[in-house]
Amino acid sequence: MRTTVRAAAKINLFLDITGKRGDGYHIVNMVMQSVSLYDEVTVTVGNGDGEITVSCTDENVPCDETNTAYKAVKEFFKYAEMKPVNVWVKIKKRIPSQAGMAGGSTDAAAVLVALNEMLETEFSQDELAEIAENIGADVPFCIYGGTMTANGIGTILTPLPEMPECYIVVVKPDIKISTKEAYAKSDSIGYEQTRSIETMIDAVCNGNINAVGKALYNKFEEVVEVPEIDEIKSCMETYGAEGALMTGSGSAIFGIFEEKSDADDCMDYLERHFENVWLVEPVSECQVIK
Ligand code: ATP
Repeated sequence: MRTTVRAAAKINLFLDITGKRGDGYHIVNMVMQSVSLYDEVTVTVGNGDGEITVSCTDENVPCDETNTAYKAVKEFFKYAEMKPVNVWVKIKKRIPSQAGMAGGSTDAAAVLVALNEMLETEFSQDELAEIAENIGADVPFCIYGGTMTANGIGTILTPLPEMPECYIVVVKPDIKISTKEAYAKSDSIGYEQTRSIETMIDAVCNGNINAVGKALYNKFEEVVEVPEIDEIKSCMETYGAEGALMTGSGSAIFGIFEEKSDADDCMDYLERHFENVWLVEPVSECQVIK
């Protein structure tokens, strides 16, 4: 039995780090948005006693037990209290790694959705999100997708109205950033709140793309060094972006455009200077069974 899931990436429209728990997890205040850049995750189940095999088109992604898809299979059978069967996961990678776009997290969510479908466990989205929490802080969001606020360690999720229609240019500079190291660096600047998430929430709720552009904020920009960030952001703004920001702990940078023609012109320019550039749009679902 085989199921293929189209698994969407995310960007952060707002990301503040407001504290650190005793167990080392950081407390965040975020607005997350699914976008139309997809990995394709094919999950096959067959007879056997629980062997897990993961493969990925990107040779830099580890396919051992550290792969998020592998962890998802383990956690699924644990939660379902079922005798594990053999599972093969094939990941067609399009979402850049170490980019702050939740590539690993969305693959894990795709595996949970695929297994739920094939093994007829009929878990609700909330139950899948409960399993997802054991895999990583961004995985529950990748179960629901769309536009949401995320609080606590990123797992307390509240849906927002859909982001207004727009065009999003994403550039992934060559530099790779480890999320763990970026959080460690953020500790050095403290957790004072300098920006209010409410401005972003109001902008989204009012469907005002101009205000969304103005309210973009990411605390990681203060601690993570991406050499090209200023060049990319000012290029996006020159081409008419409502605003530009690094997503997650980087290193991908995005610009939000109201007009497709402006986004197209910006793409033309950036494609001549960077290898990895995409034009995407906000989407309301993260996991879609094909
Ligand atoms: P986030 O926005 O959730 O912080 P990210 O974009 O920073 O994500 P990922 O692409 O999720 O980072 O991957 C981070 C690291 O996780 C990779 O360098 C890789 O070693 C490891 N990894 C494990 N499983 C996967 C997977 N399925 N896809 C991509 N990377 C994975």
